[in-house]
Amino acid sequence: MRLITYQSPTGPRAAGLNGDGSCVDLNSADRRVPHCIKKLLGQGDAGLRLAAEAARLGEPIAAEKLVLLPLVPNPEKVICVGKNYAEHARETGSKPPDEPVFFSKFPSAVCGDGQPILLPPESNQVDYEAELVAVIGRGGRNIPQSRALEHVAGYCCGNDVSARDWQKGKPGGQWLLGKSFDSFAPIGPALVTADDIPDPQCLDIKLRLNGRVMQQSNTRLMIFSVAELIAYVSRVCTLSPGDLLFTGTPEGVGFTRRPPVFLQAGDRVEVDIERIGSLGNPVKS
Ligand code: MN
Repeated sequence: MRLITYQSPTGPRAAGLNGDGSCVDLNSADRRVPHCIKKLLGQGDAGLRLAAEAARLGEPIAAEKLVLLPLVPNPEKVICVGKNYAEHARETGSKPPDEPVFFSKFPSAVCGDGQPILLPPESNQVDYEAELVAVIGRGGRNIPQSRALEHVAGYCCGNDVSARDWQKGKPGGQWLLGKSFDSFAPIGPALVTADDIPDPQCLDIKLRLNGRVMQQSNTRLMIFSVAELIAYVSRVCTLSPGDLLFTGTPEGVGFTRRPPVFLQAGDRVEVDIERIGSLGNPVKS
């Protein structure tokens, strides 16, 4: 099943996206399904089964009423992992890490499919990073690796947009700020539930800039799997429904190229992941 969130007159509401392109408001179709996607994801498989039935039977939302929001518009946490593909670690001059390297983005950086990546005047080195994003369903702490995927509601494409002159150039390296400018966390195009992606470690992943392939890899080349990452980070903090886990980018980012490639106004960036689809964002100043 594919889930999205749309803006209704009363606020954000979860909807199911059917194969024919129609969208169904899940709570209108079945009052037992929460209208808030975080609450829905927190119900785990039982809630998602009800939601799938509601998506199949409900009335489609009229196209003119369908204003799309990011699939989780207000995640509690946006957790990211650096250097999780060996070739990417090498291209940045680092050794592949022995333990996962975590950082975060502010949730206010999230934007959806089709929304613009806004180039801030404070940076002229804005870069792209194609990533598989795992969306947490049932929350938890100290989740064992063997059960970690039971806590994933589904997956989407993500772009870990990064101002390299902040991430690397400022004193100490401003990772948090360099990766948290508004619009620097595009996610989409929809949340594909985990029953449709039984193995997240075998997906082709690609990034196209103005149609040219810049990154091309497969999620089997992650150093630390989605399950290992969830087990590791949940030793530290409680994961909550709707939390986003950006799982790292493969090689081919812009700043390591000679000459470097940075995003320019008028560009279009697309992240394609097998079984999930394509997340496309125009770049604007
Ligand atoms: Mn990244």
